[in-house]
Amino acid sequence: MEGDEPTTLMCTVVAIDHTNFCYRVCSICDRTLPEITNTSTNTSSSSSSLPLCKYCNFNNAINPSRSTSKRLFRILMSIASDTKVFVVIMFDRAARVLFGCSADEFFDFAKLHPFTAETAAKVLEGEMLRVTLSKPKNGNAQHQRVVAVVPLRSGFRPAIETLRELYGVTVGS
Ligand SMILES: [Zn+2]
Repeated sequence: MEGDEPTTLMCTVVAIDHTNFCYRVCSICDRTLPEITNTSTNTSSSSSSLPLCKYCNFNNAINPSRSTSKRLFRILMSIASDTKVFVVIMFDRAARVLFGCSADEFFDFAKLHPFTAETAAKVLEGEMLRVTLSKPKNGNAQHQRVVAVVPLRSGFRPAIETLRELYGVTVGS
């Protein structure tokens, strides 16, 4: 396991962790924002309760258009190569290939449709992928990172398309 060159391999999706599939960043500077930990009663008061980026909001103190947050995918996925099963981490750019939408769109869909994340994970299980993996640069990172992903099945459809069909949502509605 020496060398920092990315490796490309064929694999099959064994499982996807659907319990924690995204994180929040500032929509201006892309810095990670703290997760909202309280899941209590205060969900109705939309964006005002969201954590704001202290950098952008400080710099934009005069500007009323304060920063907002957006979600990015961050997904733990077990994959099986021809020799082993292991867990990799997949960030937004790669995850969009499999999900077919942004993390915000996916999150909004999930708010309206129960079990969206679970179903998406099931839908993607068993898919054959060609993935390019890079070693974590940060010594604390425990998983190889998916830097590119190519679905190999000829009839592959992104998860959101399958979900829309399953849940009977027509595009654009
Ligand atoms: Zn910011």
